[in-house]
Amino acid sequence: MNLVSEFRNIINNSNNIVFFGGAGVSTESGIPDFRSENGIYNDEYSYPPETILSHSFFISKKNEFYKFYKNKMICLDAKPNITHYKLVELENKNKLKAIITQNIDGLHQIAGSKNVLELHGSVHRNYCTKCKKNYNAQYILDSTDIPRCSCGGDIKPDVVLYEEGLDMNIVEKSIEFISNAETLIVAGTSLAVYPAAGLIQHYKGKQLILINKSATPYDDRANLLLRYSLGEIFSSI
Ligand SMILES: [Zn+2]
Repeated sequence: MNLVSEFRNIINNSNNIVFFGGAGVSTESGIPDFRSENGIYNDEYSYPPETILSHSFFISKKNEFYKFYKNKMICLDAKPNITHYKLVELENKNKLKAIITQNIDGLHQIAGSKNVLELHGSVHRNYCTKCKKNYNAQYILDSTDIPRCSCGGDIKPDVVLYEEGLDMNIVEKSIEFISNAETLIVAGTSLAVYPAAGLIQHYKGKQLILINKSATPYDDRANLLLRYSLGEIFSSI
């Protein structure tokens, strides 16, 4: 039996699936992974992305932060791809219990998924640091230099920056879904970056499926290891 049909069999026979996804889920929608080699390094910016996307940089160089952020992090033209849509189908069949994502593009919700846990927040939510009023991503894009609230306060994206902690409520929910999952699909992530690797350790089930084009530290723990693009795998179910 080939690996893809093995994947299909596991999905068909499992009714408690949890999906954990990284940047690789969105690259097929044209959203660049700034950590990968084809990402947005070596670009026209004077600092590496990890520096720009840090809390201290946001506080001290808000102008530069927003220049990069508006250009590279908000991709409102991106559309969900086959993986997003197949996950919607699995949720509607009550087989998929949760999507845990490291992406901030909101593509799972745009596709129609309901139970999405966004570990790193979302570009679609932004709030005034003074009065907490909410703004959408278009407002951020349309503002010249630093987006400001009608009250005069600076607006911050609801995105977890480097040096910032994760929302513990979301982390705890993620742990609960992972530790109760029968099948865990980990896809499009190298599992090298916190908190991904730590969360996966809570999995106690028997069917860990790993889909990633390059090697990860968890490869030898996977029950099914698929070195394919996500689109190839998900279009098979
Ligand atoms: Zn305000």
